[in-house]
Amino acid sequence: MLALQGDVREHARMVAASGGVPREIRTAADLEGIDALIIPGGESTTIGRLATLYGLVDPLRNRIADGLPTLGTCAGMIFLSTAVTGGDQPLLGALDMVVERNAFGRQNESFECDLAVEGWKDAFPAVFIRAPVVERTAPDIEVLASHEGRPVLVRKDHVMACAFHPELTGDQRVHRMLIDLVA
Ligand code: GLN
Repeated sequence: MLALQGDVREHARMVAASGGVPREIRTAADLEGIDALIIPGGESTTIGRLATLYGLVDPLRNRIADGLPTLGTCAGMIFLSTAVTGGDQPLLGALDMVVERNAFGRQNESFECDLAVEGWKDAFPAVFIRAPVVERTAPDIEVLASHEGRPVLVRKDHVMACAFHPELTGDQRVHRMLIDLVA
């Protein structure tokens, strides 16, 4: 897990429960020898600012471009995208899509729903907290789940992102999907 800010501990718990060994990434050297990467929820502006400060932006971009299986959740989804509507913040640009921050459930800020996911028999209990809305995706991005007509779980090859927080549920299917991408 990229451990600059956000809900790193919750992801660590899910990785361990899904059969992985969690590790915290704070420097470029920490990226050596990892099999997969999770960028947690939190504040994407803070994560981007700290990643820039610690010289992590290019090393992250390179490792992801080299095929490192990656999952970004909520703020992590924003950080993986190519553009934020009306915003100017450091982004990794690993998923060719435009997102708008804090755009889901503005009145409530947070909500839960049973999400139908492509290929899954049972719905996923998705928790949204000031979640980004995906406004536009490149045609090569696969949309695995949508809510109110907006993509909320997307994937391109080895890079996945979701607008919700799978680490805040007891359901390990999203984390397992990432672990399954490890060759
Ligand atoms: N609103 C946050 C952002 O824009 C994301 C919220 C979250 O990760 N729960 O970065």
